[in-house]
Parts: sequence; C-alpha cells; structure tokens
Amino acid sequence: MHWKDLKAQLLAVGRARLTGEPAEEYIACSAAGPGAGGSGAVFFAVGNQRVKLAISPVSSIEIVHVGNGTADLIFEGKHISGHLLEPGLHCPDQAFITVTGSCIFSCRYCSVPHIGGKRKTIEEIRQMVESVRDRIKAISITSGVLTSIEEEEAYVLEVVKQLTSFNLPIGVSIYPTGSTPDRLKELGVAEVKFNLEAATPELFSQMCPGLDYGLLWQVLDRSVTLFGKNRVFSNIIIGLGETDAELETCVKTLTSHGVIPVLRPLNPVVWLEGMERPTAERLKKIFAMHTVSLDSAGLDPCLAMTMCTNCTGCDLVPGKDV
Ligand code: SF4
Repeated sequence: MHWKDLKAQLLAVGRARLTGEPAEEYIACSAAGPGAGGSGAVFFAVGNQRVKLAISPVSSIEIVHVGNGTADLIFEGKHISGHLLEPGLHCPDQAFITVTGSCIFSCRYCSVPHIGGKRKTIEEIRQMVESVRDRIKAISITSGVLTSIEEEEAYVLEVVKQLTSFNLPIGVSIYPTGSTPDRLKELGVAEVKFNLEAATPELFSQMCPGLDYGLLWQVLDRSVTLFGKNRVFSNIIIGLGETDAELETCVKTLTSHGVIPVLRPLNPVVWLEGMERPTAERLKKIFAMHTVSLDSAGLDPCLAMTMCTNCTGCDLVPGKDV
C-alpha cells in the first residue's frame, strides 16, 4: 500500500491508542491546530513521511512503542513498522508557538477560545525557542486574538523582532490586518499563512462570525507579491459542508493566485462535535485534485520551510506524501 493511501485512512480516523513502552518524550501537547488542548498526540513516521494522531484510549488504530522511538502501527490487520518523532515545540523540527492561547472570536471548529490559555511573554517565548534550539530548523508563530486584531498584530510583530536573532526561517500565521504582510516582510519573515478556513464565503461567515473573507483574499494577494510563489499558504478545512466542486473551485483559485492551499481534514470539536471527519476515499480524491492544481500553477509544497506544509503531520501534502 502506498503511504498516501495509508495516511488517508489514518487521517480519516485521526486518533490512535498508544501502548507498549513509556513514550513521554514523543508526546506533543498543542495549544493550536487539530487536537489543541487535548491529551496529546504522537507523530508516527515511516522514512521521512509522517502522520500526527491524537492519543485516545478508543481507536481502531494502535501504535505500539517498542522502545527508543521504534514503533509498530497496527490497523485493519496491517502491521507497519516505523518510529515516533520527538517534537520540537508542538511539531518535529520546528518551534511552533502559539503566542496568545485565548481568543475573542468564536470560530466554530476551534478550541483555542475554550482552552483558557494565556498570552506568553516575549521572554518566555525566547526561552522556549532556546530550549529546543539544537533540534529545530524553523520557528513558526501563530496566535489567538487577546483584545483586538490590531493589538495582536503589534504584539506578534514584537515577538518576531526578538526571534530574528536565532537566524532561522520564521513563518507567521495570524488573523491579519490589511498591513500585516508588509509589516512581516519588513521584519524578515520567510513565509506567511492566512487561513481562508472554508471553501465558500457563505460557509466562512457561518463558521467564523465577525471575520472578513474578502480581507483574507486581499492579504493573500499582497503576500504573494511580497513573499513570492511557494511562500504563501492558506488552510481550508475539509468537511465543513462544502461540496467537492466548491472545494475544487477554491483550491484552483488559490493556486492560480500563487497560494499553496493546506487542506485540513475536519477535527470535529467544540460546536462541530458530532460532525463526521472526511472519509479516506474523499481525502484521496481531493488529494488528486490538489496535486493537479498545484502542478498546473507551478507550486511546490516541498519547498516550504515552516509551518504546516513543512510539518505535514495533519494533512496529505502533494509532493511529500507519495
Ligand atoms: S501540520 Fe500544522 S497543525 Fe498539524 S502538527 Fe504540523 S504544524 Fe501542527
């Protein structure tokens, strides 16, 4: 079985039982992204391909830690040998930090406003990066919104300014103002991700009350002008109620604008609890469409240095998952 087909099946389930030897050093706890605030997740890798699965006592997938990171994944009668990856901060090879762990907005799929996290000080963030400096290749920054979009942007800019001394590529993904791409570019940020989240404006307004879909498109276009092709990304969640045709239109529009879509299977939490994760068959079909769309636009996810397209834990990434 090809890795991409196995990964589609694993992402459709999303969680695994972790058994065998103690594996604390391989467990990632997240303040953002799928599984944020949950009981942790592991990155199971075969060669240089990986998948992130939330740890759950109830799952059809079992990962048996044999020791020293060596692990077997057992699923539908298949035994796949691989290894667990040690996370940097949140994900392997990166310090991926959520600056503000709370949010004034209430996006329907997002657990950040419910975790009750706090804002990290700049010194805390510096120390966090320092603590993993010897095992990371990039710094990635995301954030909720503590009081206002403008105030959050200003604070994140201060954080980024202080992190440039690490001389690592920095990726930033925040909810933007119209000036965010210019301000991040001025600080030397390498890559940006501004998330459309939903395939259509109608779904976006249901899912992200108070946020502006049109602004995100403007900011993405400005970002491609400033950062160039292959340096601008946007998350779209698969499974919010969009049709395959709507998703394809959105993906083709993004790629024709020079933006790499990050197609993220829905993790049904918060208001969306009870909704279904997308099936493996749907994920495979979308992956084929995504691959063609990126190829026709001359975009290459393998060049990503930061954030989710570099990590690949939660999504099928054309060019990386083969
Ligand atoms: S793909 Fe993105 S959200 Fe998922 S673990 Fe990697 S960096 Fe985090």
